[in-house]
Amino acid sequence: MTANIDWSKLGFEYLQTACHLTAEYHDGKWGELVSQEQPMMPLHIAAQCLHYGQACFEGLKAFTQPDGSVGIFRPEENSRRMARSAERLVMAPVPEPMFLEACRKLIELNREFVPPRGYKASFYIRPVLLGTTPVIGVKGAKDFLFLAIGMPMGSYYREGFKPVKAMIHCKYDRAAPLGVGSAKVAGNYAAGLLADAHAKKAGFPVSLYLDSQHHRYIDEFATSNFIAITRDGKFVTPDSATILPSITNKSLQQLAVDMGLTVERRRVDVAELSEFAEVGACGTAVVVTPVESIRHGDQVYQLIDEGADVTKAAPILTRLHNEMQAIQYGEIPDRHKWLTVV
Ligand SMILES: *Cc1c(COP(=O)(O)O)cnc(C)c1O
Repeated sequence: MTANIDWSKLGFEYLQTACHLTAEYHDGKWGELVSQEQPMMPLHIAAQCLHYGQACFEGLKAFTQPDGSVGIFRPEENSRRMARSAERLVMAPVPEPMFLEACRKLIELNREFVPPRGYKASFYIRPVLLGTTPVIGVKGAKDFLFLAIGMPMGSYYREGFKPVKAMIHCKYDRAAPLGVGSAKVAGNYAAGLLADAHAKKAGFPVSLYLDSQHHRYIDEFATSNFIAITRDGKFVTPDSATILPSITNKSLQQLAVDMGLTVERRRVDVAELSEFAEVGACGTAVVVTPVESIRHGDQVYQLIDEGADVTKAAPILTRLHNEMQAIQYGEIPDRHKWLTVV
């Protein structure tokens, strides 16, 4: 059975499915996963998460395989990262078996919403963890709610592999040196909205942040990691304590090693932008997007000429992107055992 959806027109919007899952934590222990059909839920008006932001989330994808099964991409990595985010915000982590079971069950119960093959689409899973205890004085919750919601999502590249223009912010920082930049916490995204709005107004769909201590080293894009290919074919990505450890980045590094590239995780001076052959933004939503140009104050680093053929201008990123997608869609062997098949 498949839902009445035009798979070729899917975007990146919320779409209601058959159900989502919830689990509650009270008195020091997690309850069972429960499926819920209504997209609304009761939440206390003084719930911690609503006032003080005890909230973190994850994002991962599942792909229909050639044999009709569904492969979830590296869910145990997302489970561990969510546990680290929870620890940073003093929340009860979701036990890994429950996290994995939620992903599996969500797909089974929403099987008709998992896009069939041939549309470059996927089923996006969004786990969320919230502090729900009513509080007015600032303190951490002792009750938590785990949500696992999911929906079909279209390919970012329906109209072909498109490069993006990025802008470096001089007026806004993303993450403080000893802050929460390495955790996927909700507050980071609210804090970035104004910077994003400024960038978009200036014609830059993507924001790139420097480290907030020196404003000299590259950290990451607003919602994706920074990767670059040097002219001598090395894969470079920032080593920084204030960036979100992207699972896509980690996977691309492995694919780069497999291709015989050297991978360098190190500080990346913004001045190096003039020396890179290719720059990309990587994350679950897109795998990797080649960056056309980066503006920094009055300076513009042009990486790809406007209107150029991206697959020729960014050949290594294109290859990494295609290799990753081929693994995700089961078109080549899953040699690193990244897929959990449902
Ligand atoms: C989620 C996210 C990423 C990408 O991580 P993936 O695991 O590759 O999806 C990168 N940067 C930030 C700030 C993020 O929130």
